[in-house]
Amino acid sequence: MKRTNFTATLLAIAIGSLALVASGCDKVEPPTKPAPGTDADTTDKDATADKGAKPRSKSKRAKPTGPKHTCNVCGTTAVFKTTSRRKDATCPVCKCSERHRLFIHYLAHGSTLLHEKLDVLHFSPNECEETALRHQPNWHYVTTDFMHEEDLSLDLTNADQPDDSWDLMILYHLLEHIPDDKKAMSEMYRILRPGGRAILQVPLEIGLAETYEDPTITDPKERRKHFGQSDHVRKYSIQGLRERLEAVGFEVEALDYLGQLDPAVVERHQFSGAFDPPLDEAIWIVTKPGGGGGDPLPEGHVDSD
Ligand SMILES: [Zn+2]
Repeated sequence: MKRTNFTATLLAIAIGSLALVASGCDKVEPPTKPAPGTDADTTDKDATADKGAKPRSKSKRAKPTGPKHTCNVCGTTAVFKTTSRRKDATCPVCKCSERHRLFIHYLAHGSTLLHEKLDVLHFSPNECEETALRHQPNWHYVTTDFMHEEDLSLDLTNADQPDDSWDLMILYHLLEHIPDDKKAMSEMYRILRPGGRAILQVPLEIGLAETYEDPTITDPKERRKHFGQSDHVRKYSIQGLRERLEAVGFEVEALDYLGQLDPAVVERHQFSGAFDPPLDEAIWIVTKPGGGGGDPLPEGHVDSD
């Protein structure tokens, strides 16, 4: 949830690609010129400068090497950055990581959501997601975070919102931070309109039999040891997450969107993270029954790019 500053150039690139996403364009064109001063700027200025006798400055960072990938969020083609031991995880320009790029791809190519008139509440958005989604023409898009400055500051366990007031909620990697997640889920249910959906992910360790939590573990180091991160309060199992969401009334779908994609597309955009331990990367779509909201595309429908 750390936030970084974008330069005006990067924003321009991101907003440029946003229009492509909004139009449902299948191909995200890379920008004509990478942002100067970024790792995506592959112009070999050093090579030109080195034609003289001057030695290369030791302060210069080594040019990243390895395969290039194309960020489907901002359009950059570059060597991506290794993050938390995950090779080629992060776009060097917009900082989107694998799960964010996959989510934006799902919105643009795997669902009809961008074409629906929706009131959208996005919890604790990553900046690259927010940049991509803020100006979607069909969406009334509102961000919220309990800890940081956003459009709203909501406590999801006691959300100051009327019943039945949102069409779509986005909650990526949030519930594992909330001690009373059952209350949070019931609040999600309450403030969604009938037929409304929430799209979420939590870290789901493959092979974990049951959700593991222990509220007596509060020390950050111990939480890291037990739950994988200093501010996580549990590890969900796949079945455990489903059961809690269903218990408050949601219809639950765990969409293996990654598995539906052409492997060449996964490789091009580097969607699959080398997580340790391995995580299930399904996109969870939960629906409050009732209403006549738009339906997702038929199962198995995925655009080519
Ligand atoms: Zn990017």
